[in-house]
Amino acid sequence: MSRLPPLPPLREVIAAHGLSAEKALGQNFLLDAQLLDRIARVPGDLDGASVYEVGPGPGGLTRALLGAGAHVVAVERDRRCLVPLIELAQVVDGQLTVIEGDALDLDEAPLVGRGAHIVANLPYNVGTALLIRWLSDTAWTPWWASLTLMFQKEVAERIVAKPDSDHYGRLAVLAQWRSTPRIAFTVNRAAFVPPPKVTSAVVHIVPADAPEGVRLATLERITAAAFGQRRKMLRQSLKSVSGAIEALEALGIETTRRAETLSVEDFVALARILDAPDG
Ligand code: SAM
Repeated sequence: MSRLPPLPPLREVIAAHGLSAEKALGQNFLLDAQLLDRIARVPGDLDGASVYEVGPGPGGLTRALLGAGAHVVAVERDRRCLVPLIELAQVVDGQLTVIEGDALDLDEAPLVGRGAHIVANLPYNVGTALLIRWLSDTAWTPWWASLTLMFQKEVAERIVAKPDSDHYGRLAVLAQWRSTPRIAFTVNRAAFVPPPKVTSAVVHIVPADAPEGVRLATLERITAAAFGQRRKMLRQSLKSVSGAIEALEALGIETTRRAETLSVEDFVALARILDAPDG
């Protein structure tokens, strides 16, 4: 149940402020309150929780998050959206802070605080860049408690992919070696205004324990080489990574296998050997 005061319909807000969706900003707005509430439920109970929202646009998802009782810091780069967002902030009594800016340039953690949930419906390229940034946090456990992000369904499948599947690759290893991703649900194109070309999906990611003795940079180096030539045998694709073939042999992994057959744990074990002080 939303605890917000009565608000004008989003369509009226969009019309009143001339917020026609701009392709250059990757704008596809969500207006269906039930769907927006469903997204806001993905991180769990938000009553009193801190949320960082990227790209609130006209504020549909923001309303759902505020309605769930969250304190929201929202960053939006489209100036046209700022007036309606500030109007929303005024009626929710300190629950919403609006920042004008580009999320890619923002050092958000000090603004939002530890333990915040990140929630966003973003353009594909911005969402992927931020996902990589958040997954690459050097401190683990990271400052964020969970990520709830809208992606093209195909990208969502790459994030949660298991070995021996076409979608399995660097993104799956990066997303799974020290966090747990899942697809919460898919979202039909028709739910967006205007509809994008493809189906979308909401992905939920929570941090897990980081395996000991492994550096992200080493894992990135191995997966870049291995999946850069994914059709090749490992003895070929990992030739450029010093010590990798010996490490495969030490682990009893056949060098004739291909990258997509290795589990996330296999990649972690490989990185651990390369990161060992005498490795
Ligand atoms: N969250 C709103 C919704 O669900 O209806 C809007 C979604 S729309 C797909 C993406 C929003 O992100 C737009 O309002 C766009 O202006 C904003 N945006 C795009 N790139 C951004 C960036 N780098 N930093 C902050 N906001 C950005």
